Amino acid sequence: MSGGLWAIAFANEGGQALGRIRLESHDTYMRFALEEAVRAAERLEVPVGAVLVGSDGDLIARAHNAPISQCDPTAHAEILVLRKGALRLGNYRLPGTILYATLEPCAMCVGAMLHARVQLLVFGAYDPKSGAAGSVVDLTKVPSFNHYMQVVGGVEEQACARLLEDFFRSRRKTV
Ligand code: ZN
Repeated sequence: MSGGLWAIAFANEGGQALGRIRLESHDTYMRFALEEAVRAAERLEVPVGAVLVGSDGDLIARAHNAPISQCDPTAHAEILVLRKGALRLGNYRLPGTILYATLEPCAMCVGAMLHARVQLLVFGAYDPKSGAAGSVVDLTKVPSFNHYMQVVGGVEEQACARLLEDFFRSRRKTV
């Protein structure tokens, strides 16, 4: 991590390394999560994407929202990226990792992140209806829980929110 730049290994679905580039900020990682959100929208899923990054800057896993296509109410982007990341690292706990999500996570997903020992959550748009990192409730700062997770909200907020707004606007038109 010289000069504040992080080297990132890209991985495809099979965990194969696709190359390395240098990046420098939360915004850059959030753009990968946004790419995933676009993939969700293309599959008519609510456009939410997530990526998991290691403390060394490695991109460990990426996933998008898929509850409809997987017929699974728990198939939120954050849950899927935790599952992929844990499998890839061969560890059910992911200490030191950073999870980027385009939308403030729900209670289920914040709960899963606490179980996984994620160190830092970075999210884009705030979710006033079900956000569990401060908007409706803040499960990241419950003193009685045995894990404390740091949170940064509002990264690439406009781009993340616009994707959701456009999606719901186009859905309303087609109904
Ligand atoms: Zn969720």
